Amino acid sequence: MLTPLLVANWKMNHGITEAAEFIQFLENAEISSDREFVVCPPFTSLHLFKNIPHGAQNMHWEESGAFTGEVSAAMLKELGCTYVIIGHSERRQHFGETDDIVAKKVATALAHGLTPIVCVRSVDEVTPALVGKEIVIAYEPVWAIGTGKAATPEHAQDIHSQIRKRVGDTVRILYGGSVSAENASSLMAQPDVNGLLVGGASLDVNIFLKIIQS
Ligand code: PEP
Repeated sequence: MLTPLLVANWKMNHGITEAAEFIQFLENAEISSDREFVVCPPFTSLHLFKNIPHGAQNMHWEESGAFTGEVSAAMLKELGCTYVIIGHSERRQHFGETDDIVAKKVATALAHGLTPIVCVRSVDEVTPALVGKEIVIAYEPVWAIGTGKAATPEHAQDIHSQIRKRVGDTVRILYGGSVSAENASSLMAQPDVNGLLVGGASLDVNIFLKIIQS
């Protein structure tokens, strides 16, 4: 059985003050769960996450160089990141990320020992370049992101089973889009839902904890 993975994607929210409070709360919480979790804050707070599993929301595919404003995989490793979100729909929409760019970032992340959490909006975005790789896939339909209208468990299972046919049994497939403390357990009950990518609901540490333990 694949260990379920719960990912907090803070997007461009929470500065270091809020991040420090969130971390303190999590460090003092008794988390009784056989699930894995990881928090992906903005780059500016990654250094605070010493004992809490953490990952980045993005990275560049090149090792170094003249790429103003970008961050490399080696830099994320130095900060103790274990995961990196790649190809989030907001990056595809606002920053022009294509399947080719996603494939390049995945290759670089893997070469540095980071596990990519590759976001896809449809089965078609699970391209051949992603098959056979040690990655996590997150299915996130755009109509569900930040809208309060999560996919039904049946819809998620239907799409996940199609993705499963492409990537095989060893890849975790997460669902993302308006996940809440209320709908998390019914989504997680689906056989091909191996975890959740949580945006808005992950900003409140109490709600995120409920989702981890649901
Ligand atoms: C996301 O950030 O990937 C996401 C799914 O956001 P939300 O949970 O707010 O819909």
